Amino acid sequence: MVVVLWREEWLKPLSDFEIGSESCKYCKKRFEDINFVTSCEFCEIGIMHSSCADNHVLNNHKEEVINKIKSQRERRLHDYQ
Ligand SMILES: [Zn+2]
Ligand SMILES: [Zn+2]
Repeated sequence: MVVVLWREEWLKPLSDFEIGSESCKYCKKRFEDINFVTSCEFCEIGIMHSSCADNHVLNNHKEEVINKIKSQRERRLHDYQ
């Protein structure tokens, strides 16, 4: 079964303080030019490229993601009753 997850996202330039570091916490590459970044909702790893965050979440938080999918499904079922 295919699960498609919507990552709620909007573009917002971050201040140096919010970024906290000049490199991605996942791939360790320095940010250059324009980067799409996000943080992990399950841990405090810090700012990562959006694509790196996807890998990070799939590798480190698969269980949390599955639980989240389940709880959303249950909520939706509940709404229809
Ligand atoms: Zn990265
Ligand atoms: Zn994480």
